[in-house]
Amino acid sequence: MKCVFCDIVQKTAKAEILFEDEKIISFLDINPFNVGHSLVIPKTHYENFLEVPSDIFGEMFVVVQQLTKGVVTGLNADGYNILSNNGRAAGQSVFHCHFHIIPRFTTDGYKFKMDLKKYGNGEMNMIAEKIKSAIPF
Ligand code: AMP
Ligand code: ZN
Repeated sequence: MKCVFCDIVQKTAKAEILFEDEKIISFLDINPFNVGHSLVIPKTHYENFLEVPSDIFGEMFVVVQQLTKGVVTGLNADGYNILSNNGRAAGQSVFHCHFHIIPRFTTDGYKFKMDLKKYGNGEMNMIAEKIKSAIPF
């Protein structure tokens, strides 16, 4: 299956690479929310967050934190968003697991606020029980 991020890993597609080691690579997003919007991915192709083995995921998150330090300090950002879209319903468009690091500026004008829902009577506890009973550990 054709995957643009695998092509970046293989160096058959161009990218502005920020960091790379044996398992993880980070590069600038080609269509940034703000300049400096960066992506961190495992070099191995996993379609989404839940497919990434925990040892690789652990390393990836260390890189996400270090990259965030670089983005925030290097660009003098006022804040940052770290996010991962998983599944079409959540807006994932490249099906190779990745984390976005988006530098934010008080002047950038973005609003990430959505219309929030409210719980019905007793619903909060019912939902919590459903989640707790499905946590694998
Ligand atoms: P998502 O929509 O969460 O799956 O994010 C995919 C991200 O990959 C988008 O923000 C795209 O702008 C970015 N993207 C797609 N192709 C490339 C590419 N060739 N180089 C860098 N970023 C890319
Ligand atoms: Zn891939």
